[in-house]
Amino acid sequence: MQASSRVSFQYAPAGKSLACVVVPGNPDGGDAALIERVGAQLVDWFGRQAGNWDHLQTFRISHALPDQSPPTRNPTCPDPWVRPGVFVCGEHGSLPGIQWAMVSRRLAAEAVLTHLSDFLI
Ligand SMILES: Cc1cc2nc3c(=O)[nH]c(=O)nc-3n(C[C@H](O)[C@H](O)[C@H](O)COP(=O)(O)OP(=O)(O)OC[C@H]3O[C@@H](n4cnc5c(N)ncnc54)[C@H](O)[C@@H]3O)c2cc1C
Repeated sequence: MQASSRVSFQYAPAGKSLACVVVPGNPDGGDAALIERVGAQLVDWFGRQAGNWDHLQTFRISHALPDQSPPTRNPTCPDPWVRPGVFVCGEHGSLPGIQWAMVSRRLAAEAVLTHLSDFLI
């Protein structure tokens, strides 16, 4: 769940907040049942106050996110090495998520430094 209006205040009127809930997959049972299940989980996470939140809209977006069903790759050790002088980074060799994309960047940068150190006198 993201409090989108903390990203941009233009997403909500003054004094209000916009919260976005992402539900992976495409749950059966229609929107009414989905909204009820999501509402119950929000109360579980954020307390009874979440029961007073107004539902605005539901969008079903096909293929919005990659499939992250287990078993998944170990995101802490993507291999950045392709061939001498060529390195790769990004979530494609890891798990979807900005933090894992950043971990892969760091590992690629370290691999580049190690590779370059071979050329230093
Ligand atoms: C709808 C949605 C919601 C998300 N929400 C979250 C979230 O809440 N939290 C979170 O942590 N992550 C979220 N993610 C995932 C997050 O956006 C990605 O994990 C992250 O952007 C991956 O970074 P990356 O640099 O590996 O790839 P990207 O950000 O996809 O960057 C790859 C770049 O390479 C460029 N490119 C592709 N092919 C070529 C080419 N041939 N030549 C040159 N350039 C090329 C693309 O244009 C792109 O700019 C979300 C993703 C989506 C789609």
